[in-house]
Amino acid sequence: MENILNSFSNIDSQNIAQAANNYGTPVYVYDETAILQRCKEALEMPNAYGLTVRYAMKANSNRSVLKTISAAGLHIDASSLNEVMRAHMAEIPYNNIMLTTQEIYEGADRLIFEEMLRSGLSYSVCSLRQLGIILDMESAEQYEIGIRIHPGVGSGESITRNTGDEYACFGVHLMDIEEAVNLASQRGVLFKYVHVHIGSGGDPLVWQQNIDNELSIIKKYFPHAETVNFGGGLKVARMPDEKAADINELGQYAKMRIEEFFADTGRKLKMEIEPGTYIMANSGYAVTRVIDKKRTALLDFVIIDGSMEINSRPLLYGSRHPIYIIAADGSHVKSSDWGDIPGDFEAVVAGRCCESGDCQTLDSEGKPIPRSMVEPDIGDIAVIGGTGAYCSAMTPFNYNSHTQIAELMLTSQGTLEIIRRRQTLAQMLENEV
Ligand SMILES: *Cc1c(COP(=O)(O)O)cnc(C)c1O
Repeated sequence: MENILNSFSNIDSQNIAQAANNYGTPVYVYDETAILQRCKEALEMPNAYGLTVRYAMKANSNRSVLKTISAAGLHIDASSLNEVMRAHMAEIPYNNIMLTTQEIYEGADRLIFEEMLRSGLSYSVCSLRQLGIILDMESAEQYEIGIRIHPGVGSGESITRNTGDEYACFGVHLMDIEEAVNLASQRGVLFKYVHVHIGSGGDPLVWQQNIDNELSIIKKYFPHAETVNFGGGLKVARMPDEKAADINELGQYAKMRIEEFFADTGRKLKMEIEPGTYIMANSGYAVTRVIDKKRTALLDFVIIDGSMEINSRPLLYGSRHPIYIIAADGSHVKSSDWGDIPGDFEAVVAGRCCESGDCQTLDSEGKPIPRSMVEPDIGDIAVIGGTGAYCSAMTPFNYNSHTQIAELMLTSQGTLEIIRRRQTLAQMLENEV
């Protein structure tokens, strides 16, 4: 159909124009049907003795998004005390939340944290210091405590997203595991689960190898572990030439290995995964307006009214995102990086921040790379795809004093609903003294 953006979305050019015209640009639009479909796929991942899927909420922590995902049956992976609070405010019980963090809680925060543990929060110990704090708690042995292992090998779409290699510092390193296990058992604390997250958007083969690695670590050091958590990092294809991880294939492999582990040890391990990107990346769109066109002796530029402050991933990582050009009245998609609507105009898509890197089409060195499209008219809508994860949640949104933008949900009933209002200038300034 001419007005559908791509084959995996339920959003068409009319929905986009409605979002832009009724709520103003730039604005995020999430596709609830796509979110629910991704949740279903994750929950159907093959497994041997049970599967819990935890949504890594740092990818997108909007309350409506959390509610949609938790109603679909996913639990939560939180990265900070505030994330746990936000999840709880979205009516998710502590029993369904696991906290894996670099934070250290002192003073009032420690009391809040301990109250959460008492209420059923699961906690992945990520350092010896964190372990010491747990072991100092009076009822430590009654809490749901696991451990995140630093395996020494990882994989990510860029160096900055590899969380498992020796250049990153997440989890308790293999070198320190024996010490951690001994300290904990002296105090009667048995690690109930073992957790590894090797990075985001990395090589599915390394993800698969980690399954073997983690199971052998459990066999060697963790006689009481009941659950193996393989982390997040399932790769998605934002662009048509990218290859997504095959969740079914990875699940088949995990199932086989966990069954072998049972044959070998008599222990039936439950499995957990923690997708963030997989659930949200291709379920969200950033809707912007073409406000200007310029050129240099070298390049054509299309200027849109939101770029690095609504999607900083190209600038941070050289990530590529699809761009859809849509007629201002929403009547049709003029060009799309997905599907066969060719364009004969080559342009760099740039934003409105005073920063030469404020482009949506950059390579990993930060060099602007023109993209093929149909030449847009001023006032046309430019949609940046693949922006449901790590965009709203991870942008420098007040840079150049641009206010944080609104978020909309296209519900599975087909209605467009506002799930976060645009920040006002007054709100941006309210804490200045
Ligand atoms: C970020 C993170 C995830 C999610 O990673 P994705 O690549 O978005 O799937 C999962 N687990 C932990 C511990 C994380 O820090």
